[in-house]
Amino acid sequence: MTASSALQTAPSGRSHAAHARDWLAENLKGRLRIDRAHEIPVTLQELVDFEVGMHAAGLAGITWPRAYAGHGLTLREHLEINREIGLAPVPNSVNSIGKELAGPIILAICNETQKAEYLPAILKMQAIWCQGFSEPGAGSDLAGLRTRAERTADGWRINGQKIWTSGASKSQRCLLLARTGTAEDRHKGLVLFAVRMDTPGLEVREIRSIDGHRHFCEVFFNDVIVDEADMLGAPDEGWAAATRVLSIERATNRMYRSWRFQSELEHLIDACRTDARAMALLTPYSRQLAQIRVEVELLKGHVETLVETLLSGGQIGPRGSFPKLYWSESHQRFAQIGWEIVSRFPPGVDGPLRDIRARMEAVYFASRAETIYAGTTEIQLDIIAGRILKLQKAA
Ligand SMILES: Cc1cc2nc3c(=O)[nH]c(=O)nc-3n(C[C@H](O)[C@H](O)[C@H](O)COP(=O)(O)OP(=O)(O)OC[C@H]3O[C@@H](n4cnc5c(N)ncnc54)[C@H](O)[C@@H]3O)c2cc1C
Repeated sequence: MTASSALQTAPSGRSHAAHARDWLAENLKGRLRIDRAHEIPVTLQELVDFEVGMHAAGLAGITWPRAYAGHGLTLREHLEINREIGLAPVPNSVNSIGKELAGPIILAICNETQKAEYLPAILKMQAIWCQGFSEPGAGSDLAGLRTRAERTADGWRINGQKIWTSGASKSQRCLLLARTGTAEDRHKGLVLFAVRMDTPGLEVREIRSIDGHRHFCEVFFNDVIVDEADMLGAPDEGWAAATRVLSIERATNRMYRSWRFQSELEHLIDACRTDARAMALLTPYSRQLAQIRVEVELLKGHVETLVETLLSGGQIGPRGSFPKLYWSESHQRFAQIGWEIVSRFPPGVDGPLRDIRARMEAVYFASRAETIYAGTTEIQLDIIAGRILKLQKAA
């Protein structure tokens, strides 16, 4: 890896896109590439090192202020760089919750001391964050959450349970949403914390998913004491902050997504082109794949429109549901088609067909969850119907 510890931005005279493309061509090698089948999976440490390099090269923390180890560029440059990240076979960040959800909310509601403590540690990969919102009885209905935060002489005492906490077992901090009153208070009395994952009384249990990974976790809080200094914003501001986090998660998180989607589609077609038997399996789907290609283009346009809205000072609010609904449904249809094709390859294929089979398998499993996390399809439709079309909820 050529990354230096000094922050780099695009050398003058070259576009950020060209700089990102060159850096990725130079540094994205071997087991880091998600377009290859690997005998030995990439390790967490390799991913962390790669992300440290991306940040140093100016490909992460793009819009964050320089005072907090960011690069101080605009969302337009973020988009420019993310197009290249999407087109290259870059693994998803292991700290995407830190970089894309916790970071923006910290910038919006935290004090200077908190910003200086949390933000550089996220970009330098010294603190991986997880998101402790969902509970066994509170997923779609997040306002039903029951995890309690009581003020004590030592700070706050937390009791309760979270579930589906992605990456909790490898995280150093949890963006926790808890309540100061009772569950009947619903949206009132909610508060956000940055909880250290090594605090006594906090227990993480991994959940094994169908793809064999242990990415999800349950997180239990038994008399966990959190310092007052780790409360984010004010008590009672938690709901507004949480909905802001969800809007970011739906609208601008992983901005490279549409370009990644395009590269998966092109990879599938290119790999099948290398073998007449594979091409014969793909051809019956050609109209559906053409339809998918159009959807990719619409998604790209939508992301670009959102960026322009934000750059001109506009808010996204409930319109964050548009891209979430559209990309998750479209990508799930594509993943189903891709999986149907690669699962019919003859056993023992090698080279490009082996690579695309491994990739489509991972894409297919991941896609099953895409219409659930960040709010399910039904919830997005209800948000659009209720808050944009001002319609009453269907029975
Ligand atoms: C891959 C993945 C990663 C995740 N990571 C995290 C994480 O890091 N942190 C975190 O806090 N959470 C995480 N989640 C949890 C996620 O936010 C919830 O799964 C999601 O909000 C749905 O909640 P639920 O699972 O409790 O399902 P439920 O809310 O019980 O929904 C079950 C079904 O009922 C439907 N439904 C529910 N309410 C309504 C309604 N009012 N109208 C119509 N239909 C309705 C839903 O659409 C769904 O089909 C993750 C989930 C997945 C799949």
